Amino acid sequence: MTAIEILKKLKEKGVRFTPQRQAILEFLLGTDTHPTAEEIYHHVKAKFPGVSLGTIYNTLNMLKEHGHIMELSYGDMCSRFDGNPKNHYHVACTDCGRIVDLHSPLLDLEQEVGEKTGFLVQGHRLEFYGVCPECSTHKRAKMN
Ligand SMILES: [Zn+2]
Ligand SMILES: [Zn+2]
Repeated sequence: MTAIEILKKLKEKGVRFTPQRQAILEFLLGTDTHPTAEEIYHHVKAKFPGVSLGTIYNTLNMLKEHGHIMELSYGDMCSRFDGNPKNHYHVACTDCGRIVDLHSPLLDLEQEVGEKTGFLVQGHRLEFYGVCPECSTHKRAKMN
């Protein structure tokens, strides 16, 4: 969905959208870096110096509640936000924390899990982690 389509949907539900909120949404839809709330704040602040971190969090929570974005949480690390709310897999770097989309089809396991456990399976999560190419280059450079 584009920002315009999301704005229209939310307007129908009576959600008020300020230019700041719109900037938050547009930034998230236009990036695949899975930014933290702080990163979104710094980006939007460049254009709207009056924006507060509270506005960022309120807007992110609202967009999440309506199913337009995803929050990715990794233990005690800061949550990351994803403008793509459809289930997809991520690879996280354990050194620098960057998170990359994995463009692969979802595993077709839900029916099997349902049959084996008797659960009505509604979804699944799968996370990959390791060392990103940049960090492994740095590591190799340090060892030499
Ligand atoms: Zn890394
Ligand atoms: Zn993603």
